[in-house]
Amino acid sequence: MMEPIIIAGPCAAESREQLFATAQQICSQFSEKNLHLTYYRAGVWKPRSRPDDFTGAGDKALAWMLEIEHSYGFKPCVEIARPEHAEACLNAGIKSFWIGSRTTVNPFIVQELADSLRGCKCTVMVKNPVTPDLKLWAGDIERFLKNGLTDIIAIHRGFTQSSENIYRNAPVWQIPIELKLQFPDLPLVCDPSHLTGAPNHIASVSQLALDFGFDGLMIETHHNPEAALSDSSQQITPAELTNLLSSLVFKSKTSSPAENELRKQRTLIDNIDSQIGELLLKRMQVVDNIALIKQKNNLPLVQPSQWSKVVANYKKNATDDKHFQDFIDKFLEILHQQSIERQTKK
Ligand code: PEP
Ligand code: MN
Repeated sequence: MMEPIIIAGPCAAESREQLFATAQQICSQFSEKNLHLTYYRAGVWKPRSRPDDFTGAGDKALAWMLEIEHSYGFKPCVEIARPEHAEACLNAGIKSFWIGSRTTVNPFIVQELADSLRGCKCTVMVKNPVTPDLKLWAGDIERFLKNGLTDIIAIHRGFTQSSENIYRNAPVWQIPIELKLQFPDLPLVCDPSHLTGAPNHIASVSQLALDFGFDGLMIETHHNPEAALSDSSQQITPAELTNLLSSLVFKSKTSSPAENELRKQRTLIDNIDSQIGELLLKRMQVVDNIALIKQKNNLPLVQPSQWSKVVANYKKNATDDKHFQDFIDKFLEILHQQSIERQTKK
């Protein structure tokens, strides 16, 4: 694989000091570990769900991003969502952009952006639309290609899901993998920050993406994540970013196909195990809620019909797999016992 594409920087441009502090720390940490940053990112104009949320420092942050390029040699990249944003960037001298997932759902806006960049020598990173729609994502890319923009990077950041899950967004890996088959020459980057929404899942999802053949990562990095004005719970520090990148296995030409495949399967297992752990904990928390309701209303602790429903729910899968069924029997016995113990302790 070519050198991986590493895009890092804060979710939003908040102030000159914040942009500089984060860049300075990335610079010193990376040089110690011999790492290379491909783009320094920051959202100058942030599309937010609520009207009163922080929307980025705006136009003045473009000059700060250029100052950072001058001081640290980091190529700046910002989000554009309107032709006016593209124009402001081009006038300022910024030539790398990403199109956010709330913009890429709208073909009219994507076409306007593609038209505003026609014939321009710039890099366009196209995030997947929030909806799991491969055709729409591919169509977004085609709109830029048709206007003569060839330096395009696809970014997978997961898809909106209706109910809360382990990750902030659903990975639906088959979609980016299928996109890569359709556009084999376009680099594909994973954004585990928006995908997972949580620093503790960023490493395993990054490794999985690399094992699937992704060409790089976009990771939100802030010098003080707790104080961040947007996405504070998912950003990591420059030191954490450096440790993370040093711990990842970038597909090396020296690894055999069997080693690569084994690593992928192991990462899948790690990922599943961490989800099972979280789900079990969530289940116990729901058990505690049920215990309280039963206690308050003087209802019996064990309701056999309810438990048979749980058993049937587990057993509907793999009905012809005897080993699995036996395992589920043993597992459910422990699970049931745990639930009763928790309820009696309340
Ligand atoms: C971002 O990268 O800051 C961003 C807004 O991402 P997304 O469009 O993926 O939500
Ligand atoms: Mn963000």
